[in-house]
Amino acid sequence: MSDEAADTPAERQMRFLFQLRSRGVTDPRVLAAMERIDRGLFVRGQFSDRSYEDTPLPIPCGQTISQPSVVGLMTQALNPGQRDTVLEIGTGSGYQAAVLAGLCRRVYTVDRHRRLVTEAEALFQKLGLHNITAQIADGSRGLPDQAPFDRILVTAAAEDPPGPLLAQLKIGGIMVVPVGQSDAVQTLIRVTRSESGFSYDELRQVRFVPLVEGLGQT
Ligand code: SAH
Repeated sequence: MSDEAADTPAERQMRFLFQLRSRGVTDPRVLAAMERIDRGLFVRGQFSDRSYEDTPLPIPCGQTISQPSVVGLMTQALNPGQRDTVLEIGTGSGYQAAVLAGLCRRVYTVDRHRRLVTEAEALFQKLGLHNITAQIADGSRGLPDQAPFDRILVTAAAEDPPGPLLAQLKIGGIMVVPVGQSDAVQTLIRVTRSESGFSYDELRQVRFVPLVEGLGQT
């Protein structure tokens, strides 16, 4: 058993928040939202005792739950407002969507794997997060029926920001997406849409599973 597992929940929580701050998550609203969501609920099985470490971990369907500091930095870059409607591509464990739910009016989250959507929905119910709608869909096409969105967060890596997602972003909206040719490392970018078009900022290097077109088998 590691030292961390011997911590009380309060000590674990303090260490978790300290790690986030030391890696650049400084927005008090984001820290408060992350403090309210227990990452331990979103990691199951053999890796659950590592839930509070700042590391990505395996989840079913060969996917990963992102590193908490990356969740924090992406949320901070997205800067969702209380009245915003946010689209997340890549529900995965549901952890990122649960964090977003505390910061905006409504979250739509989609994943290509049925099992991940079903398990995440059960957690949203359990936590009383009624402003999240999870759907099985190919997120590279966005969610045309609910568009446009104030914010779009893509938690899988694409070669370029997918065109349908750019089209579904409101004027004044922000999209955060990891892009790059390589499977090993990508660049997190922030796309801001204004009347005159799109502007792009490079934020940092990240490592995400790829955005895959079409629905999964499970
Ligand atoms: N945000 C998640 C982590 C996502 S991992 C969390 O907080 O746990 C990336 C997810 O993107 C995987 O679950 C994968 O199935 C999903 N994904 C990949 N390509 C996709 C696509 N085209 N449409 C929807 N989901 C996709």
